[in-house]
Amino acid sequence: MRVRIVLASMLVSFIGGCASVETAGGSSSLRSPVALSGAALANPINMVVVDAGHGGHDPGTQHFGLREKNLALDISRKLKAELQNRGLTGVMTRESDQFIPLSGRPGVANRLGADLFVSVHINANKSASVSGAEVYYPRESVVSGSAQWPPGIAAADIGFPSLIIKQVLWDLVLTRSRSQSRRLASTICRSLHSTLGIACRGPKAARFVVLRESWMPAVLVEVGYVSNHDEAQRLSLESYRQAAASAIADGITNYTREQGLQHI
Ligand SMILES: [Zn+2]
Repeated sequence: MRVRIVLASMLVSFIGGCASVETAGGSSSLRSPVALSGAALANPINMVVVDAGHGGHDPGTQHFGLREKNLALDISRKLKAELQNRGLTGVMTRESDQFIPLSGRPGVANRLGADLFVSVHINANKSASVSGAEVYYPRESVVSGSAQWPPGIAAADIGFPSLIIKQVLWDLVLTRSRSQSRRLASTICRSLHSTLGIACRGPKAARFVVLRESWMPAVLVEVGYVSNHDEAQRLSLESYRQAAASAIADGITNYTREQGLQHI
């Protein structure tokens, strides 16, 4: 019985905290239609953390003399600039060729209270004929015992801290953001397809660490297959990487617009 009371009061305080987090992070449910018109049209998203995959001693995939870590960093830099051009704040998890552990990447976004997390990667396949983009969002996953407690929760505040309680709390956090992640993956995929003229498979669910440990809507973009000769050639061109960054940024702004319109 005591366990139930402790858990119930904890959930009430947590849900309250979560709601305030969402308001600060961009829910415009309290905004009037007037606030959503004009130059600031439906722009509830401000900070986007851009995560260039791999880096340092981890080159990622390598084909045709191209390294994933370098391509991902260049596209990420361009994406940050494209986001700034659109009035958003772009923050990178790495600005240079450095190694960052997987958990440290969403950790940057979590610490900053970012609104979105976008990880940029380049794909490879044993079959050289496979090409195109893919965009992933977090699949439901079991939280490990070593995982942090959700934001606003301290284990010491909980009467009977257990893995099950931790999983219930994380489910509350992630169920809310997962549907938003899926929508974001969808708008980015459409934009990559129309801008680059390539196939985009997505939104696809995956259990990548960088996605499941993000406290905000999060997606992982595989821009193309460097194992495919034609796509590798395109990825080697700065203009193509620029177009890819612009397409991802368009997908993000389309998402923010759709999110805003849903609240009118
Ligand atoms: Zn990768």
